[in-house]
Amino acid sequence: MNHYNGQNEVLDRITDAIFALNNNWEFTYMNDGAARLFRRRSYEMMGKYIWSEFPKEAYSIFYEHYRKAMQEQIRVEFEAYCHPISIWLEVKVFPSSDGLSVYLQDITQKKGLSLLKEQHYASLFKYNPDAVFAFDLEGNYLSVNPAMEQLLGYRAEEFLQMSYIPLIPPEELEKTKSLFKLAAKGITQHYETKAIHKNGKVIDVKVTNMPIIVNNESMGVFGVAKNIMQENQNKTKLLEAEKLTAVGQLAASIAHEIRNPLTSLKGFVHLIEQAVPGVNEKYFTIMKDELRRIELITSELLYLAKPQAQEFKVEQICQIVQDVSLLMSSQALMNNVEIRLSGLDGLPAIRCVAAQLKQVFINLIKNAMEAMPSGGVIGIHASSPSPETLMIQVSDTGKGIPQELIAKIGAPFYTTKENGTGLGMMATQQIIHSHGGTLDITSQVGEGTAIHICLPAASLQDGVVAG
Ligand code: ADP
Ligand code: MG
Repeated sequence: MNHYNGQNEVLDRITDAIFALNNNWEFTYMNDGAARLFRRRSYEMMGKYIWSEFPKEAYSIFYEHYRKAMQEQIRVEFEAYCHPISIWLEVKVFPSSDGLSVYLQDITQKKGLSLLKEQHYASLFKYNPDAVFAFDLEGNYLSVNPAMEQLLGYRAEEFLQMSYIPLIPPEELEKTKSLFKLAAKGITQHYETKAIHKNGKVIDVKVTNMPIIVNNESMGVFGVAKNIMQENQNKTKLLEAEKLTAVGQLAASIAHEIRNPLTSLKGFVHLIEQAVPGVNEKYFTIMKDELRRIELITSELLYLAKPQAQEFKVEQICQIVQDVSLLMSSQALMNNVEIRLSGLDGLPAIRCVAAQLKQVFINLIKNAMEAMPSGGVIGIHASSPSPETLMIQVSDTGKGIPQELIAKIGAPFYTTKENGTGLGMMATQQIIHSHGGTLDITSQVGEGTAIHICLPAASLQDGVVAG
């Protein structure tokens, strides 16, 4: 006997699935909707034991819930995926004294949509190049994406055991905490702070914190973070480059202004020397030396501002080095210095401003000669450790540079020479950097100095072959 009696007709017409069981788990009723859903005939099911028709193993979730409703005589509702018929069901189970009635609704479509939606959002999380993470209101991690694992070096499982607090350096903590609290209250925050990577390194990050609002209530905080180390480094580099350009331009304009009066001074000194015989000759020597020195400084200053102007061309480094060594050969001979070239064959070409690179080698050879007042050997050795790079080393057997002074070389006006300008190495470094290269100095006091220059080879697109 079923307990629906006269209502059956109405129930049969409902498209949702309804069936009833007695206390022995036997079907006492099944409407058309349920029969359609289970692909059975309603009349064949009457009196059948449900778990022989629908084995407990395959329907364990259903079994658990039905049993609970039956034993505890309470109403049970749940959603479950029914594997044998590949359908998501919303299930409502109503107990009664003689059994259960079960109301089933096919929610596959609805579920599919929300799953799809969930996957949509999950992709935004998972594949986001920025670190994305969620906190509870206390700042404990609830979820982190792969970019976050990358950013701070912890695995997701490790994050879920911790809060953000140990990850912020002490000096940034107060600020970060108060911004977090504001975000938790519902006010989105953008700020820059520092974070400690698992390896101990402190990194600069840009963070956005926003509230997680569910049912009009703040449940936690979402965060998005980005590593801005590179950005900050680029900013500093740009600033330095700008400063250098400004200094260079200022220097050049001053030098230019000094040149004209200098020319007339030189002319008149010469005239006086000729016109007034008998005046202390020593004074003229000093004056002429000082004027020459001013001239030297102004010409080096003028040079500093020039590098930006010239055009880059594909050149062979061996040609440049040979030209310079020829140019310097007579001076070298006078100073009892031998210039030895090596490794100049088969090198990749480079993109450069030849005149500037010549200036570099002139500066380096001059310094090397000045470091060897009683003569010695200057070695210029080139090599190509990889097809993309070119290395040139200019070494001398001179007096060397104390370790602690190496860092000062290249600072404007740093010189240890009585007649030095302290601008040669600055110009040299500037030229090498503007060619995308690097310059390093190694030295041993009493033994000599080596300047190591690394330059990028011209790319294959430039249509070049080894020279
Ligand atoms: P200057 O040659 O006018 O002094 P530079 O900028 O060319 O200016 O060089 C700066 C300083 O670096 C020199 O005064 C010298 O102390 C040091 N220096 C540069 N090259 C060498 C070298 N090959 N050996 C020893 N010291 C060097
Ligand atoms: Mg010099």
